[in-house]
Order: sequence, then structure tokens, then C-alpha cells
Amino acid sequence: EMTTASIVDNFPALRQSIGDKSLVYLDSAATTQKPQSVIDAVTRYYEHDNANIHRGVHTLSQRATQSYENARKNIASLLGANRPEEVIFVRGATEAINMIAQAWARPRLVEGDEILITEMEHHSNIVPWQIVCEQTGAILKVAPVLDDGSLDIEAYKSLLSEDTVLVSIAHVSNAIGTINPVQELCAFAKEAGATTVVDGAQACGHLQVNFQEIDCDFYAVSGHKMFGPTGIGCLLGKYEVLQEMEPWQGGGDMILSVSFEETTWNDVPFKFEAGTPNIAGAIGLGAAVQFIEGIGYETMVSHEQELLAYGRGVLENIEGVTLVGASEHNAGVLSFTVEGVHPHDVGTILDHAGVAIRTGNHCAEPLMRRFGLSATCRASLSVYNTTEDLDRLGLAVQEAIRILG
Ligand code: PMP
Repeated sequence: EMTTASIVDNFPALRQSIGDKSLVYLDSAATTQKPQSVIDAVTRYYEHDNANIHRGVHTLSQRATQSYENARKNIASLLGANRPEEVIFVRGATEAINMIAQAWARPRLVEGDEILITEMEHHSNIVPWQIVCEQTGAILKVAPVLDDGSLDIEAYKSLLSEDTVLVSIAHVSNAIGTINPVQELCAFAKEAGATTVVDGAQACGHLQVNFQEIDCDFYAVSGHKMFGPTGIGCLLGKYEVLQEMEPWQGGGDMILSVSFEETTWNDVPFKFEAGTPNIAGAIGLGAAVQFIEGIGYETMVSHEQELLAYGRGVLENIEGVTLVGASEHNAGVLSFTVEGVHPHDVGTILDHAGVAIRTGNHCAEPLMRRFGLSATCRASLSVYNTTEDLDRLGLAVQEAIRILG
């Protein structure tokens, strides 16, 4: 049983100093730190089981295959998939969304069809749709965000029509932390006859996700934002929808039989996993799932919500600091600006104080524009953060104002 006080001990990278200051890591929305168990799982695979999967009859290949497929089962169970075959391993949420755009949308969209996204999307849930619109003549529609950073749900509903073929929405905004009511939003979209995509990159490391309950057709997962390695993620897809799809990439493992006259496809999910996948990454992600289960989402949510409220208090008490998009339903993201100081300068001074935050547009340029900004400072939380971390953030921001404000 892990308490939130002992959780930090699992993360070796958090035990270090930046200059003479102990590290305060507040950039988990960019990538989370990795627990020792994940690092060990990757190392163990390379030290003991390294072999290619699915093809070998020898022991190492069988072990590697088993670990890789166990990881798929772990993820399916954590995220509430109907069956492990609904989990396709990809590079990350970006690749998951691009796969949907090219393998699902491109062959189906015709001129005048509409894709509906929101104004708070990450570039990786904008650009793949712009590309497929260019390719097919479909039109990209955008549901606006309200002043508090929440989605304008009435406007969203009014943008749905019989022309809407696909809807793609962030579960949690990376730039400001808004949690969207995706189950409700997907239900409206489905009433309009649209296929639904949820970008879950920022959700799975923070809150309980249930693919069946959300009832979307596709759900994009980022491994490195849920304590797993980089270069691994998943596309969850409804089994029937995946079966109807043509493969995206051709190569080894995705075929049943190849001849120069006719090639036939392997079953779902292998049909979508051409070539040697990131075996070590998948195994590491499986260990990350076990790490999350060891803590439990309930503990994670209550810890992060407490920290979020505390952090908002710390920042609101500093004159010249303005929170951006601090809505009521928010995951652990504190986006803010400092009067008279450019976010990049705030970030540099914070780094000197050992405090790691992100500054910039957070790959969400349209959302920044919506708030009349080009950039914000973003402190993002995870289960290993503490109120002391947020006190250090507050002191460092005050220091930045003293020096530059
Ligand atoms: N969507 C959101 C909301 C994100 O925050 C990110 C990563 N910053 C992505 C998609 C892309 O995820 P990945 O890094 O796994 O490609």
C-alpha cells in the first residue's frame, strides 16, 4: 500500500539537485517521470528476454511475446476496453490520431463532410484533421471555449449536424487542464451519427478512464504521460470499427499471407502493428499500468485535486499573476501569466531555483490566441508532487517578479 508521501521515493529522477537547489518537477503534462518499476521492467526485458515477438519458436521470443501481450491485457483492463484486441500499440497519442485520420477517415470522407474538434485541442488533434480535410475536401469545424476555459457545450451541440462525420475532443486539455465531459459529448455526437474520437493523452495518468463507459469509437493514449516510456502509446478502438478498417502501414506481422497476386491481412490488432514494434516500451507501459493500479486512481485524483486547489491559492496570492483557463473541472494544470514578465523569462528564473515548468504555447496555439496570449507559464502536477513543491513555485515566481517585473 503506497501513501502519497512515499510515492515520490519510487522516482529516481526526482532525487537530484539543479545547481544547489533540489529539483521540483512541475512539467508532468509534457512527460511524467518514470518509477523504478518501469525502468526495471525495460532493463529486465533487454537483459533477459530480448528477442523479436510473434515469430520465434525459441524461448526468448516466447517470453518477449508473452510480456508484450500481457502489457496489452493490462492496458485493456485498466482503461476498460472490451477485450485486449481493442488495444493497438502505437508510438503515442500523435500516431494514434494520425492513424485514425489516415486509416479510418481518409477512405470514408467526401467533399462537404465535416469534422468537429474544439478550440482547446493540442496541435496533434488539429493538424492530422487538417491534412485529411485537404486530402478529401472535408471541412474542419471548431467548437469554441468559454472564458473560464471550459467548452461551450451549447455551441458544440449546435455545430453537430448530419454532415458531421467525425468528432474529436481532448479528454483533458494539456494547456489549461480542462476536463471535458467526454461521455456526454460523445453521446451527442453519436445522436448526430458521427464517429467519435477522444484524445486521452492527458487523462490516463490522472483520472479513471473507462473506454466502454465513454462509449467513443476511438481513444488515444500516450504512454509517456502515464509513467511509461517514451515512444509507446495506444489506440483503443471498438473491435467492430477496427475490423472494418483497412491497415494503415504495410509490412511484417500485419499480414496473414503475402503473394505478388494477393496479400491478406492479419487479425485485429496485428493488422495495425506493421513491423517490429516498441517491445521494450510496451513492456514498460505494462509496468506503468501496474504502478497506477498500486496507487489507485481515487488516491491520485484526490491528491492532485488538493494540490491544484493549494497551487491556485499560492499563485492567486501573488500580485501580478493571472491564472488562465482555471475552470471548475480541471486536472492538475496551473496555467498562468506574470504581468510584465515574458513566460520564457519566468521559466528561466524558475529553473535557476530548481523549479521545472513549461513555458510557451503548449502546442495549442489556437487556444492561446483565444485568450489573447502567445504563451503562458504552465506548472503541471502529478501524484509525486507535494504542497512544498507549490510553495517553492510561489517563491520562485515572486523572485522572477522581483528581478524582472
Ligand atoms: N494530445 C494532448 C492533449 C497532449 O498533451 C499531447 C502531448 N503533449 C498529445 C496529444 C501528443 O501525445 P504524444 O506525445 O503521446 O504523441
